Amino acid sequence: MDYKYLSELLFPSVTKTAEDLEVEFPARNLKEGAIVSRMAPSPTGFVHLGNLVQGLTSERLSHQSGGVLFLRVEDTDRKREVKGAVETLIETLKHYGIQFDEGATMDGDNGIYAPYRQSQRASIYHVYAKKLVSEGQAYPCFCTEQELEEMHAAQEKECANFGYFGKWAKWRDRPIEEIEQMLGEGKPWVLRFRSTGSIENKIKFTDLIKGEVEVTENDIDHVLLKSDGIPTYHFAHAVDDHLMRTTHVVRGDEWLSTLPFHLQLFRALGFKPPKYCHIGPLMKMDGTSKRKLSKRKDPELALTYYKAEGFPVEAVYEYILTVLNSNFEDWRRANPNAHTDEFKFSYKKMNPAGSLFDAAKLRDVSKNVISKMTAEKVYELATEWAKEFDVDFYEKLTADMQRTLSIFAIGRGGNKPRKDYAVWSELKEYMGFFFDDYFKLCDQPDERFDRAVIAKIVREYADMYNPEDEQNVWFDTIKALGEKYNFASNMKEYKANPENYAGSVADVSGFLRLAVTGKNSSPDMYAVMSILGKEKVVERLNSYAAEIVK
Ligand code: GLU
Repeated sequence: MDYKYLSELLFPSVTKTAEDLEVEFPARNLKEGAIVSRMAPSPTGFVHLGNLVQGLTSERLSHQSGGVLFLRVEDTDRKREVKGAVETLIETLKHYGIQFDEGATMDGDNGIYAPYRQSQRASIYHVYAKKLVSEGQAYPCFCTEQELEEMHAAQEKECANFGYFGKWAKWRDRPIEEIEQMLGEGKPWVLRFRSTGSIENKIKFTDLIKGEVEVTENDIDHVLLKSDGIPTYHFAHAVDDHLMRTTHVVRGDEWLSTLPFHLQLFRALGFKPPKYCHIGPLMKMDGTSKRKLSKRKDPELALTYYKAEGFPVEAVYEYILTVLNSNFEDWRRANPNAHTDEFKFSYKKMNPAGSLFDAAKLRDVSKNVISKMTAEKVYELATEWAKEFDVDFYEKLTADMQRTLSIFAIGRGGNKPRKDYAVWSELKEYMGFFFDDYFKLCDQPDERFDRAVIAKIVREYADMYNPEDEQNVWFDTIKALGEKYNFASNMKEYKANPENYAGSVADVSGFLRLAVTGKNSSPDMYAVMSILGKEKVVERLNSYAAEIVK
């Protein structure tokens, strides 16, 4: 067969050659060892934790090595295309702090290897398609849907493997006359790869995360170009990763099964294959067994979930590092205030089998991250969240910025900052009582105490409260008041002989706390009272005293 002739027949308008493209998209000029990696998501409208795991891994590997990270949009699957999905994708990745050096952006493409959207690269793929045909490594296939279905049914009947290969590959060795005739009749065709692999053979390769992997060779003549001339992901990504000079492909291990085909393609195209980092799946405990996070069952798989709950991006980022690198937590303990970029991220510390997602752990990390923020930072992030997800709360938070800042400042700073909330959506519960509209009596005092006594103490305190008092004077006043009603002010003494007392000063503070905040636990009462102001404190104390004996 004259393959050259066939390639001209199939791609008459392709005049560029692979050599031209090598010149057009030259090798990068980077220092030795610099990693060029990419995120290559398909815009399906669903951006998930897996994307972030993959993005963060590629980002760390490339930036830590002085290399490049780029974003390529793999939008060749028109059937799955969702309007606005590319924008959502770019927006979400940006929100989570994945910084691309080049690639697709909101306003087009940025970088010399453009275009970075596969749907705009058809003419590039056709150059390689033509080359493969001219070398006898690809051929047109005119099978109709129906013929393929029949093939599948026949394979089922014969208990043969499924797919277009060997004797089933009807168009693999058809004479040129037949091809010319079909083309002349305008029959649609796809371009197929002429596989020389056999399932009898195994190939070994080293994955940077999985280690040495053995896979079976591919013997299927997979489709390279669909009938509309648009490539399949497999073909497109091999061309793109070569031309964009990718050195490391980081992706989910669901791609391992097609890797033999990908390696074949790189070889057939004359490209050096990149290094691979196949990441194991994200799993969660379901009862006593582990299972993969699923789009259908687990809302926490979607990145929108974390935004809506109000997890700070920094916390999600830090949590993912915890999950991905087994030594991150130790590093964090040793470097509590260091920026995450200072951590030496390594694919060697990734679990080849995948990572366990633990919601409780994420909350812990988030509490920790929030506790280290300044009040100003909390204000910025919390109001940004509330503006989108709780407008009424947003209005309250922003009505008096200074006051809100003082609320956020409670328990912040120092060696042991308080860790009261993990997400912005918990803030209302935590601090709602500062606003009359949200204030309500949620908790009850302990049954041990006589309500009439509580009412008396609370009412008396209302007459004593002086916002000018220093914190120790303020507390002495509470102690003295308690003593009057036989509540011990010395905790040690109280613990030694509790039967001698009605309770302790902690209980007295608890009554005041309940009256002022409606709850048995709250931020520091001295600060709470001073922010609420004398009038409000007295009003709440008195109304509680009245309420409790009703
Ligand atoms: N478009 C593929 C996906 O979204 C990318 C796989 C890869 O990174 O090579 O899964």
